[in-house]
Amino acid sequence: MGAIALKQVEKTYGHGAKANKVIHGVDVAIADGEFIVIVGPSGCGKSTLLRMVAGLEEITGGEIHIGGRVVNQLEPADRDIAMVFQNYALYPHMSVFDNMAYGLKIAKLAPAEIEQRVRKAAKILELEALLERKPRQLSGGQRQRVAMGRAIVRQPAAFLFDEPLSNLDAKLRAQTRLEIQKLHAELGVTSLFVTHDQVEAMTLAQRMIVMNGGRVEQIGTPEEVYGRP
Ligand code: ADP
Ligand code: ADP
Repeated sequence: MGAIALKQVEKTYGHGAKANKVIHGVDVAIADGEFIVIVGPSGCGKSTLLRMVAGLEEITGGEIHIGGRVVNQLEPADRDIAMVFQNYALYPHMSVFDNMAYGLKIAKLAPAEIEQRVRKAAKILELEALLERKPRQLSGGQRQRVAMGRAIVRQPAAFLFDEPLSNLDAKLRAQTRLEIQKLHAELGVTSLFVTHDQVEAMTLAQRMIVMNGGRVEQIGTPEEVYGRP
């Protein structure tokens, strides 16, 4: 179960005279399996909110629930989430297989289980023929898929995407967007995706959270937010 609930979530950077409140009482309920896109102008708090869900940023007020558990005090590795970053650095000396398997080896999963998870992810991402290659022998799109593979093999309750497409060229961006849509159609994992790109938001979102000045301004389907054509 990958439902996510944000209850009166707040974030203040700094203390005393330097205190700067950047997230003001955000309340959102995300259903298991939903694809949610967070949009809004630069500096409105999208990344901070996502990083608090991931556990990469301390929450200074309210509660975050993932899969029914309050995760405020949990380390990122214990939150049952996987981040997909903008530039997910692959290990250059490791094969595609080992890049995907690495986190599972660290987590001490049984080799047979690791093998099964990596092969399943490789199948979904069409990387089966490339498992022995090194990152330098891959195209940009293939590397991006390996980065997604690393998140998939964790079998998390939720995927968190922090502007994963913003550094890609237009062609690769479109390709990766399709890949993410396919992934969601196939696995149905709850997804929180941050972007400042409206096209991305409209094509990917089941519902959008529109933020402004650290507050939720609007929540709804792309049609509800942008109006019907
Ligand atoms: P967005 O992702 O929407 O561009 P951010 O979440 O990055 O917005 O930033 C929200 C606000 O928090 C901005 O005013 C930003 O300057 C501030 N901020 C972000 N990170 C930090 C930090 N580590 N320390 C202090 N202020 C920060
Ligand atoms: P390292 O970064 O130390 O080389 P890993 O990437 O395997 O090794 O994992 C470091 C920690 O980060 C582990 O606790 C792992 O559970 C967590 N982790 C790894 N990948 C992700 C991810 N995509 N999203 C969230 N947490 C991750």
